[in-house]
Amino acid sequence: MSVTQQQVLDSLAKVKSPRGVGLANAGVLSAISVSDGKVFFSINVEASEARAWESARAEAEAAVRAIPGVATVMVALTAERKAGAAPPPPPHRHAPGVAPVSSHQPPQGAGGSPMAKQAEIPGISAVIAVASGKGGVGKSTTALNLALGLRDLGLRVGLLDADIYGPSVPRLTGIHEKPQLNDDKKMIPIVRFGLAIMSIGFLVEEDTAMIWRGPMVMSAITQMLRDVAWGTLDVLVVDMPPGTGDAQLTLAQNVPLRGAVIVSTPQDLSLIDARRGLAMFKKVNVPVFGIVENMSYFQCPHCGTRSDIFGHGGARHEAERLGVPFLGEIPLHMSIRVTSDSGTPVVDSEPDGPHAAIYRAIAAKVRDQLQGSIAAA
Ligand code: ADP
Repeated sequence: MSVTQQQVLDSLAKVKSPRGVGLANAGVLSAISVSDGKVFFSINVEASEARAWESARAEAEAAVRAIPGVATVMVALTAERKAGAAPPPPPHRHAPGVAPVSSHQPPQGAGGSPMAKQAEIPGISAVIAVASGKGGVGKSTTALNLALGLRDLGLRVGLLDADIYGPSVPRLTGIHEKPQLNDDKKMIPIVRFGLAIMSIGFLVEEDTAMIWRGPMVMSAITQMLRDVAWGTLDVLVVDMPPGTGDAQLTLAQNVPLRGAVIVSTPQDLSLIDARRGLAMFKKVNVPVFGIVENMSYFQCPHCGTRSDIFGHGGARHEAERLGVPFLGEIPLHMSIRVTSDSGTPVVDSEPDGPHAAIYRAIAAKVRDQLQGSIAAA
């Protein structure tokens, strides 16, 4: 029997809110998304009230989870707050069996550090973002294959699809199952290709129209970062939402990022967008590890001939001009598109091919930057 929105509302009516009425009547709920046993909604409150609502949020999750037929629940607490202010720290819970890494944990709390206000994520040594100034440039494809390249270098790697406007990681990885919960009520990431993977797309359908306001984005992503039993990771690759708007800025500011990789195509327009991406990370003091030029040149799948159809080399010049490392160029190639869209990413499915080698070379540069940044810290 499938779960209905009414059942969810009925269960929420019994949850007490700090306003003294049942949660369903407190006037704070977003639209409730129910699909295939997966339930997602947010509670929208003033920033000053956020702490008082955390227990209502947890109770709401438990109440909905108790409905027969509900497999996964995610309730985001959305706190409206002034841009630039730090969010309330999330509740700190430990998943059994998740050993925090202390030896090479990024330093937190140091004065002036970009990560000063960002709580570390137990078990994760470094978080890096893959960003783009606009959608459709191959950011997600690059994030996944970069994660696989880092895996091939012997690192323990996770991938968080934070592109909640259009989560494509379920399609790119072929993952269609729902994450289960552990005893500590944390979501267990899906392990595929040796990566620990989490996406909002595992909870809602890819084509579900999601209208997110900035604070909701942050709240949902914070929960995916912190309420997931990631285990021990050397690096978590975050596939950012495309663009450089307020939501992305808040995200860059509030996720404890060690660095960022910007993906651009060679077209001018895209490069302008990439420049905005650089400026955004600069603003929040997150080092940009470099620019990747995707769809850099067309490589004919039949004869292998290379054609610079977009006027190639723009990203490299731009990177040089801006003093940012250039990480590499990835051709526009049929096998990258086909493997991406069939859930068999090229680094994993064609490990000895030329494209895997390109992604691994980019991964090696990112790893070096990461090590340099950790050493410098
Ligand atoms: P974004 O995350 O920037 O929106 P995606 O990674 O989802 O972009 O890629 C958009 C489309 O372009 C997908 O169909 C993907 O398979 C394809 N694509 C991405 N990079 C390449 C490439 N280098 N060669 C061929 N197709 C690519």
